Amino acid sequence: MRSSNSSSTTPAESGAAETFDALLARVRACTVCAAHLPYPPRPILRASPTARLLIVGQAPGRRVHETGIPWNDPSGDLLRQWLEMTREQFYDVSRIAIVPTGLCYPGTANGGDLPPRPECAPLWHPALRAAMPRIRLTLLVGAHAQAYYLGKRRGRTLADTVGAWRDFAPDLLPLPHPSPRNRLWFKRHPWFEAEVIPMLRERVGAVLAAGDNGGARNPS
Ligand code: SF4
Repeated sequence: MRSSNSSSTTPAESGAAETFDALLARVRACTVCAAHLPYPPRPILRASPTARLLIVGQAPGRRVHETGIPWNDPSGDLLRQWLEMTREQFYDVSRIAIVPTGLCYPGTANGGDLPPRPECAPLWHPALRAAMPRIRLTLLVGAHAQAYYLGKRRGRTLADTVGAWRDFAPDLLPLPHPSPRNRLWFKRHPWFEAEVIPMLRERVGAVLAAGDNGGARNPS
């Protein structure tokens, strides 16, 4: 196994598939924060050099950790509903990359999942993004993704950040986490379903339909 905490060698944007594969292999061999994880590290991500949409969530939950498939849970079902995508469309890695803020399951405390490990995003996101030069839109799903990508540009509340989506266009789009536990938030903020979801579908459809990787289709 190669050392996982050596400095990341950023592949050139035009890097060969082998270079991308080598990066993925280094990510998948990472053990940097193993001492803080409840199980041996299992980084869960989907990425390819042709992807045009990047979905950044928080960290895998236990079910995702066990299956190795990101968004393979009720939150993923709702996210696919927002996107009007089938599972087949959603998991087409040639078009859609899925890289959470923390790649490994961080465990639980007080009945809830722990936040993503803080080492993870700074360690891997810059290299992975550089290796995916065709990304045109990044969905920041939930507060952790927004904290990492928006920093001080983030609003005071989740509603402030999501409601200010125009400020982050066209590259970034903040969204609430589609966890069933957030049902009350959705109910209290009906503008999200009325205004943001239609805009989300339109933008994702445009980004994927404009694909230059051949065979790109509108997901709707
Ligand atoms: S959470 Fe991230 S930094 Fe920690 S072991 Fe997994 S891939 Fe490495």
